[in-house]
Amino acid sequence: MKRIVLASGNAGKAQEISQMLANHRIEVLPQSAFNVMEVEETGLTFVENALLKARNAAAHSGLPAIADDSGLEVDALDGDGAPGIYSARYAGSNASDSDNMAKLLGALTGVEGAQRTARFQCLMVYMEHAHDPTPIICQGTWEGRILFEPRGTQGFGYDPVFFVRTHNCSAAELPAIVKNNLSHRGQALRQLLTALGAHQ
Ligand code: IMP
Repeated sequence: MKRIVLASGNAGKAQEISQMLANHRIEVLPQSAFNVMEVEETGLTFVENALLKARNAAAHSGLPAIADDSGLEVDALDGDGAPGIYSARYAGSNASDSDNMAKLLGALTGVEGAQRTARFQCLMVYMEHAHDPTPIICQGTWEGRILFEPRGTQGFGYDPVFFVRTHNCSAAELPAIVKNNLSHRGQALRQLLTALGAHQ
């Protein structure tokens, strides 16, 4: 069985990735098991940040690493794909999910439904070791719209305000298995498993 360290301190993400890898020939260990300190996300793109995280976890654990960097792009906000790579800290460096959603809903005051288009992006990378010059890089995108108020209690992050048109509900109203099947993270991880030859 292949052992891989998961380079994420985000409990919601780590849970989703671990659930999706549960039936594969991969043992996923959290980076906390190796006392890996979170690396500063200084990149200007999702892929740069994902590589920083994977390299840091591989260096400290001595194991291959998977990292994802993800975020929400809201078309009606100023800036290229905002909050984008800054999604986790949109309302400040120690912002909670509720703080971030409240700031987003405030910023979209007066924006009509049709203009509230948005998408989640996920860049997932795999590095065989910290000096791997050919990391595997996969991307998933999930289209939706920003609701006018939060709905649902599942998931994490912006899920309660992310409307999933195909299922006529928020991402936080979807059972985990359904979200994983549709989501940006699920798409990226399935590509990664195919690239690793680890699909069952
Ligand atoms: P990262 O740890 O820098 O990749 O932060 C990603 C941030 O994007 C999270 O903290 C959430 O705010 C948001 N995000 C990413 N994926 C999801 C998702 O599946 N649901 C809701 N929010 C997400």
